[in-house]
Amino acid sequence: MGINEKITENIDMTSWKGKIPVNYIYTVGIAGEKFFREIKDNEKIVGTKCEKCEVIYVPPKIYCERCFSRLENYIDVGTKGTVHTFTICYENVDGTKKEEPTIIAMVKIDGTDGGLVHWLGEIDSKDVEIGMSVEAIFKAKEEREGSILDITYFKPT
Ligand SMILES: [Zn+2]
Repeated sequence: MGINEKITENIDMTSWKGKIPVNYIYTVGIAGEKFFREIKDNEKIVGTKCEKCEVIYVPPKIYCERCFSRLENYIDVGTKGTVHTFTICYENVDGTKKEEPTIIAMVKIDGTDGGLVHWLGEIDSKDVEIGMSVEAIFKAKEEREGSILDITYFKPT
């Protein structure tokens, strides 16, 4: 069926084979840019603090989710955190078996109310525990691109 043909029976299935070009530009926003720039340039993780609610957002946000105050107080929150939860992956995205399982964890950054989902490294999957202390390991400065993957993984401390 061509695009100009009319559907006369509303019970008929219809489809159109082809390609639709979709162009987009993804922006990380004001807080996201600051967050990734600090990781890339200074090997730092930053958050924003709402003084009124005493909440520290990591990744940083430009407004407080609780009181809607504008947040402009970016603070260095360090690179250490705690495993809040984790999963062990035995298969690749395409369903094939991984040579070695990978561990993905929600790491709550110490002293904040937020955290990052990232890989754990330098640990055997059978040794991971909720509540264990970890710290971010960064790529070499010349390899960083301004992405969350500039953190290679979190490792146990
Ligand atoms: Zn607030």
